[in-house]
Amino acid sequence: MAERSTRGGTVYLVGAGPGDPGLITVRALELIATADAILYDRLIPAGALRGARPDAELVYVGKRPGDVAMPQERIADELVERARRGLEVVRLKGGDPFVFGRGGEEAEALVAAGIAFEVVPGVTAGVAAPAYAGIPVTHRDDASAVAFVTGHEDPQKDETALDWPALARFPGTLVLYMGVKNLPDIARRLAESGRDPDEPAAAVERGTLAGQRTVTATLATLADEVGAAGLRSPTILLFGPVAARREQLGWLERRPLHGKRVVVTRARAQASGLARTLAGLGADVVELPVIRIEPRIDSPAVRAAVEALHTYALVCLTSPNGVGLLFDAMAAAGRDARALAQAQVAAIGPGTARALRERGVIADVMGERFVAESLVEALERVPVQGRPVLVARAAEARDVLPDELRRRGAEVDVVALYETVREEPAAETVAAAMRADYLTFTSSSTVRNFLEVTGGRVPENARVVSIGPVTSAAARDAGFEVAVEAERHDPDGLVAALVQDA
Ligand code: SAH
Repeated sequence: MAERSTRGGTVYLVGAGPGDPGLITVRALELIATADAILYDRLIPAGALRGARPDAELVYVGKRPGDVAMPQERIADELVERARRGLEVVRLKGGDPFVFGRGGEEAEALVAAGIAFEVVPGVTAGVAAPAYAGIPVTHRDDASAVAFVTGHEDPQKDETALDWPALARFPGTLVLYMGVKNLPDIARRLAESGRDPDEPAAAVERGTLAGQRTVTATLATLADEVGAAGLRSPTILLFGPVAARREQLGWLERRPLHGKRVVVTRARAQASGLARTLAGLGADVVELPVIRIEPRIDSPAVRAAVEALHTYALVCLTSPNGVGLLFDAMAAAGRDARALAQAQVAAIGPGTARALRERGVIADVMGERFVAESLVEALERVPVQGRPVLVARAAEARDVLPDELRRRGAEVDVVALYETVREEPAAETVAAAMRADYLTFTSSSTVRNFLEVTGGRVPENARVVSIGPVTSAAARDAGFEVAVEAERHDPDGLVAALVQDA
């Protein structure tokens, strides 16, 4: 960092999008991943900072409920001070930094201080929240213009910056930010200034987020409807004929898992695929990883097995994690896929076979159902009598597979590539999980560790979804009632079963 301090760092004014973690830009993620320091606001998507460097300085500069925000000049000072020290600084803001984000003021302060800066636009709430509500802000037939307006000002004030008669006459869609508190006055002013009281209108609270709520009405009735529904900030208000398009174009609420909160308990490293699929189906996903994979590939047993890999007649892998770690162990020993050239390779199920394929190995044998019994069945046609077999797996796995292979006369070595240990999630994540509609378990260890993590508490109204019979048995042993069991014992099978139930 010393060599940087001579030329000074850059400040990036970055938009983080309206809230859906998928609506952050590639450029924003790149900068987050490399920044020395990140100064961020309240309305940034959950998990946006997950990709930050572990040693990056993360500074919250937004408002806390009931508290005041850090004054704007202080924020600018903080940016300047860090850039002068040669740091690469990301200033992360909700939506777009130059749309009611005070990004312009911060850029001016940087210019005044002679600091290099870049602007990364973001998806702004005024477009995204209506879009997620099924409202296009422009439309060939309905709106050839759109105005972004601040609703922050008190319309009671005499000298307001807003020209209400001009807004009332504006030939297109009005989109108001920060206006929900002043909505009664805003609507009254627009109507008094000549805007059609029967014009369609909408309010979108927490747009693009899991809890998005939308109210549609008319200019005259919106304030009452929004009051009755109790919408609060952050909410986008919209006035214009396009609001009526929602009836036909509303798509969010039609997704199969809309409004359902689903808890994913698997290890963070594996959870993302499942979480993404569920979120794509409209679920409000709570990632509550209760287990973590601790690699054990440095153990003498694993090293010896990798050293002798070419001597096994059969190598059995029992999870995608196991595949990844076996290849890590091989790489550490200076070996590659060719070390498996002599052996038959068996995968417990399709996910494990896929993990092998990604590393250039096609499994010779595959279980149909991702349970040991299924692999045992599939191995019936493989001669193992008197032959060396390696079972590479998790430390705490069941012994069905090695026992059966030994019974058939194989010389079985079992090595543990990893251990599953308990994760300690944040208290608010546990609290969010307690209000779940569905609780998903993908292994016995997720069941056990869930109860340890929550101190034995279970979400009252949640239906339990299990990936397969072994996990179901563990769940029942732990006192859960299993509502749904996947027919195919993999994440896709679990999702299919859950959707069916919902
Ligand atoms: N720079 C931001 C806007 C910041 S002003 C952007 O470009 O989106 C804050 C206002 O933005 C809130 O009062 C609200 O009106 C709106 N807003 C931000 N996120 C929102 C969301 N997810 N849903 C609805 N409105 C949102």
